Amino acid sequence: MHELSMAGALVDIAVRHAAGRRVSVVEVKVGHLRQVVPSALEFAFELVAEGTEVEGARLELEVVAAEGRCRSCAAETVMDGFPLACGRCGGFDIEVTAGEELAVEALELEEEEQRDSASAPNLSELTTIGGRR
Ligand SMILES: [Zn+2]
Repeated sequence: MHELSMAGALVDIAVRHAAGRRVSVVEVKVGHLRQVVPSALEFAFELVAEGTEVEGARLELEVVAAEGRCRSCAAETVMDGFPLACGRCGGFDIEVTAGEELAVEALELEEEEQRDSASAPNLSELTTIGGRR
């Protein structure tokens, strides 16, 4: 299941970063092209988080719109789904510039009662999870 592997990766990162502290909120940025079903990801997240510091934490999803640059006419297009096509010339030779993100933006830790975004982990390692279909 697509969402389960994503949830596993998110929980992994959150647990590592929390370093033993309880996590109350996990803010996640997810690209539109990941085709994540929010309710499915939330469900999987709860499942994977069980028994970890992240158990009971709220998952806050921010969906990032898909954007791309046309290799034929160089136009920038915001795309709302597949197939990815240029808004100007209709071409399909698109270089995706946004929309494939999967990253933990910030964690809220129960003990600190404050956002810990300054030390948010660099989650570039996550961007390869699942990949594009
Ligand atoms: Zn074009």
